[in-house]
Amino acid sequence: MDDVSEKRGLEARTGAGFEPMSAYVGRFAPSPTGPLHAGSLVAAVGSYLAARSVGGCWLLRIEDIDPPREMAGASDRILRSLEAHGLRWDGPVLFQSSRLEAYQAALDDLIARDLVYPCSCSRSELTASAAIGAFGPVYPGHCRSGPRRPEGRYAWRVRTDNDLIAFEDRRVGRYGQRLEQEVGDFVVRRADGLFAYQLAVVVDDAWQGVTDVVRGEDLLDNTPRQILLQRLLGFLTPTYLHLPLVRDADGQKLSKQTFAEALDDAQVTGNLFAALHVLGLMPPADLRKAPASEWLAWAVAHWRVPQADSSAR
Ligand code: GLU
Ligand code: ZN
Repeated sequence: MDDVSEKRGLEARTGAGFEPMSAYVGRFAPSPTGPLHAGSLVAAVGSYLAARSVGGCWLLRIEDIDPPREMAGASDRILRSLEAHGLRWDGPVLFQSSRLEAYQAALDDLIARDLVYPCSCSRSELTASAAIGAFGPVYPGHCRSGPRRPEGRYAWRVRTDNDLIAFEDRRVGRYGQRLEQEVGDFVVRRADGLFAYQLAVVVDDAWQGVTDVVRGEDLLDNTPRQILLQRLLGFLTPTYLHLPLVRDADGQKLSKQTFAEALDDAQVTGNLFAALHVLGLMPPADLRKAPASEWLAWAVAHWRVPQADSSAR
C-alpha cells in the first residue's frame, strides 16, 4: 500500500471527520430517489426522537451514490420537507457524492488485505446459477479464486463465511445471519464503478461518529453485512433500532418503488400524527392546532422504543 492510501485508510478508520458533539450521535440517511413519503417520515421522526430524547445529536446524510436511481430535485425537496415538519439537524448535511475518496480508501484497504475479490460474473450468468435465498440470489462463489474473465469490468465482492453475525436490535431483539449461506459474498463496488450502499453506509457512520442507527425495518437484513464490514475495517458497531414499516392497504411496505405518495408539506400535523401513531405515540387532542415544533417537543418527552410486533416482519 502506498503512503497516500495508507493515510486515507487510517483516516476512514479513526473517524476523524466530526468532533464528537455528544455521547449519542444519531442520523437520518435518505436516498434522493424521490421525495419523502409516510414511511420515510417514520424513520426521520423516530431517529430524531431517539436522539433528542437523550440530548443526542441528529445528523442528516443524503445518500446520493447511485445517480441512475436519483430524481432531480429530490435532495432539496427532502431538506425542505424535514424543515417543514420541524426536524432540525445538527451541523452541515453530508452528501455521499462528496465522499468517494473515502469509499475508495476503504476498498483499497480491503483489497490490500485480500478481504475482497474481483468478480466478472454478468447478471445473466448469476441468474442462471445462483440459488435464491431469503434475501435474493446467493452468490455461488464463481470468482473466489480469481475472476473468470480477467479482462473487462468487474465488481468487488467481500469474502463471507458461515460464522453467525448477530446483534441485539433495540426493538426487534436478537437477529443474525450466516452470510455465506444466506446472502453470499456481496458487492461493495459495482462493475459500473459505483460504490455499494453497504460500504458507503459503514464508512460514513464511522466517520460521522454515529453511535445509534435508527431506521426502517426493511434494512434489518442488511445489518449483518454492515457489521461484517465494520469488523473488517476496524470500526465500532453502533447500536441498532429498526422501526416498524408503514404498509399500504394491501399490506405492502410503502416505498418509492411502490410509488408511495410524496408527503404533502401543507399537511404537517396530519403527517406527524400518522408517523407518531406508527411509533406507538398518541399525541393529546389539544396539540391538534399546535405547530410542528410543539408536536415534536411533546414526542421527545414521551418517546420510548416502540414495541416489537409480528405484523412488521
Ligand atoms: N439510504 C437508505 C435508504 O434510504 C437508508 C440508509 C440507512 O438508514 O442505513 O433506504
Ligand atoms: Zn463472479
